[in-house]
Amino acid sequence: MYRSHPKTVDGNEACAYVAHKSNEVIAIYPITPASPMGEAADLWSAQGSKNIWGSVPRVVEMQSEGGAAGAVHGSLQAGALTTTFTASQGLLLMIPSMYKIAGELTPTVFHVASRAVAAQALSIFGDHSDVMAVRATGFALLASGSVQEVLDFSLIAQVATLKGAVPIVHFFDGFRTSHEINKISYFDDAVIDQLIEPKDIERFRHRALSPDRPVIRGTSQNPDVFFQARETVNPYYDTFPGIVQQTMNRFAELTGRQYRLFEYVGSVDAARVIVLMGSGAQVVEETVEDMMEGGEKVGVVKVRLFRPFAGGDLIKALPPSVRAIAVLDRTKEPGAGGEPLYKDVVAALVEDQAGLAPHFATMPRVVAGRFGLGSKEFTPGMVSGVFGELKQPRPRNHFTVGIIDDVQQRSLPWDPAFRTRKNREMRQCLFYGLGSDGTVSANKNAIKIIGENTDLQVQGYFVYDSKKAGAVTVSHLRFGQSPIRSSYLIADGDANFIACHQDVFLDRYDMLDMARDGAVFLLNTRVPLDRVWDSLPAKMQRQLVDKNMTFYCIDAYGIAERHRMGDRINTIMQVCFFAINALLPLAEATAAVKKAVLETYGRKGRAIVRQNMGAIDDALREMYRIETGALTSEKVVRPPVPEYAPEFVRKVTGPMIAGRGDLIPVSFLPADGAYPVGTAAYEKRNLAMEVPRVDYDLCTHCGKCALVCPHGVIRSKAFPAELAESAPAGFMHAQIKGKDYPAGIHISYQVAPEDCTACKLCVDICPIRDKSVASRKAINMVAREPTWEEDKASWDFFAQLPDSDRRDIKVDTLKGAMLMQPLFEFSGACSGCGETPYIKLASQLFGDRMLVANATGCSSIYGGNLPTTPW
Ligand code: SF4
Ligand code: SF4
Repeated sequence: MYRSHPKTVDGNEACAYVAHKSNEVIAIYPITPASPMGEAADLWSAQGSKNIWGSVPRVVEMQSEGGAAGAVHGSLQAGALTTTFTASQGLLLMIPSMYKIAGELTPTVFHVASRAVAAQALSIFGDHSDVMAVRATGFALLASGSVQEVLDFSLIAQVATLKGAVPIVHFFDGFRTSHEINKISYFDDAVIDQLIEPKDIERFRHRALSPDRPVIRGTSQNPDVFFQARETVNPYYDTFPGIVQQTMNRFAELTGRQYRLFEYVGSVDAARVIVLMGSGAQVVEETVEDMMEGGEKVGVVKVRLFRPFAGGDLIKALPPSVRAIAVLDRTKEPGAGGEPLYKDVVAALVEDQAGLAPHFATMPRVVAGRFGLGSKEFTPGMVSGVFGELKQPRPRNHFTVGIIDDVQQRSLPWDPAFRTRKNREMRQCLFYGLGSDGTVSANKNAIKIIGENTDLQVQGYFVYDSKKAGAVTVSHLRFGQSPIRSSYLIADGDANFIACHQDVFLDRYDMLDMARDGAVFLLNTRVPLDRVWDSLPAKMQRQLVDKNMTFYCIDAYGIAERHRMGDRINTIMQVCFFAINALLPLAEATAAVKKAVLETYGRKGRAIVRQNMGAIDDALREMYRIETGALTSEKVVRPPVPEYAPEFVRKVTGPMIAGRGDLIPVSFLPADGAYPVGTAAYEKRNLAMEVPRVDYDLCTHCGKCALVCPHGVIRSKAFPAELAESAPAGFMHAQIKGKDYPAGIHISYQVAPEDCTACKLCVDICPIRDKSVASRKAINMVAREPTWEEDKASWDFFAQLPDSDRRDIKVDTLKGAMLMQPLFEFSGACSGCGETPYIKLASQLFGDRMLVANATGCSSIYGGNLPTTPW
């Protein structure tokens, strides 16, 4: 047996490692969440990293997934071992070539980070609807459920396809497995070398098109032979499950990890069993182990090879004691009598029952359920709900679990408070950060340090919101003594440690709901020490006291500023995490963080390294424990949308913004995917610590600041001066300049302070400078306090002023065009985006007489990603 070594990686990296080591050509086209595999392979080839035969794989990026599949087909026919990576619609674009590749019995593996296929809406998240759409192509389908399995099955698939000549789609759940970091047992090149036998490669090469052995492949066949020719492949599919199992056995001899086509875990005399595939199987396994400890007779069948479906092996895997089976599919086939895995299981049971020696005295009752579409959470509580339903004399069929279906009442109830023993034993840590503050990269680094320097098992998963500018990221890190199979998020009452890296989140998220009794809360804030406690919302103070929590704070931005690190607070917060959680000795942890700093910033110069080292030392000195005590605060967590918002926005959009979208029932959502527009105006994100202010003594009313703002945050309106008589204090306006506008017409350049991202583009573009103070412009960034409330009142007043009649305005001038109402506002595009000003301008020029066709990409995300849309 070969020795393996622990490595802390995510699913994409584990897969790309094997694919790169065992292929000669890799044709790629990026698509979330599979892109990191192509990127890794591309990088390794660029660095000259070789496959096991000593050559550098050629990585070619095509013009689409259709092109990538075509390139794979051609390359395979020429005799080069070839692979690709994809997901979702990308896989669908490959379908025509997949039929050809399989039809010609061409060995290859397509690695798929499986993802929802766009239906009523696009979703970049995981489910099996893409791989189910290719189950008729003739490709085998092999499912990995964990990062470890991704590594192992990537190799098993490569070996089996070469032996059996059936191409394989090897898939694992997009994001949940592709992006989960876990500590796994890594094998090295020797295992790959041992498993891929030269005779299999020789056979593959021998079937390639070659002038030395001329044949024609890809003929056109008529009704006389096409049918018979189609049947010729049957023996290959009949023997393929056996080949995969033999490969799994051989793999076990080399690594000690034994897999089966259908792997049963549970009581030997189980009465109730769940059958499913993918990462959900890990959750069921964890729950089954827990329920068995409580004396329940339950089990799970983890389906590894879905195509060809070896029904006999499935039946053999089930204990004969089974009375009720729930088959869970992570896909939806509208209008079908059941989803694909359910139908195959039913067919296998019926065929076995009709045979000469049935496995069961009485055929078990079988029901179908759907779960986890678009990465919907699937938790032990839900698994327990399914097992509970199987106890009923007539369990519900065609149910859903994980949502509230108040239309057809198909959803099963579940207990959100259900926890497994394993879950309670792990140390669980949550981090709330901004996309731009380095929180995620610091956590990835921390988890690798712990994974590689301790005996602890580790798991890291990262949740990003849909915005690009000011996106909140929540990092979920777990540490424990035994392998972590919890393929679900840290939830209410679970976390031992919560870090809030941005104090603007304090009144936005109920983050301490997640804390367990005795947990630690770490806050990065610029509020002076003696006022930190009072700055918390009332609910947070109460939770800190009621849950006996320990509370630390640090001014990481102050330290970063002192060390000229801008807003990069990642290393500072990382050191605080190590100091509080003591997962490894602090000196060791600090040394590891410093080593990582050297590796990351070493090439950027000594100054940056010195700054980071200084900040690390200061972090340890300047983290303070805050006494929790009297409940002094009356601050409330502000509602996600204002009271005056329309009903749909309050009922649907608001809960989504607040992170409670999982609880929105089916009846609240439009069946055809049509949502109200202009909802971004209700989402006040309050991101900016500084906002721009116009100096009307200098301003020439050119309108450039309003033109360039990527978020439509700075606006101009022209109005009769008397309308401003009722304006709140602080509302700024002036007689409009230019001969086109009569006396008495005033103009205001007003900023929506709660929507500004502080990108400073408006200040940069302003052409007017104060002659006596060169650094001063006609628009300047100022601290949001102390005029914050005044500024908000000014915006509210401005918003209700009438828009100009376009017939009275010269819309072909910049100043005039900027007086028109933009119909694209407050988008979540990146801070400083160069595209959105043009979209906004087009909406101003054409008004509501414009139709937009928007291809998928950046503009479809900042333009149409829920919860809110800027159009
Ligand atoms: S700072 Fe950026 S987001 Fe804010 S008003 Fe200026 S251009 Fe717009
Ligand atoms: S860019 Fe400067 S001068 Fe032009 S409108 Fe804006 S603040 Fe005034």
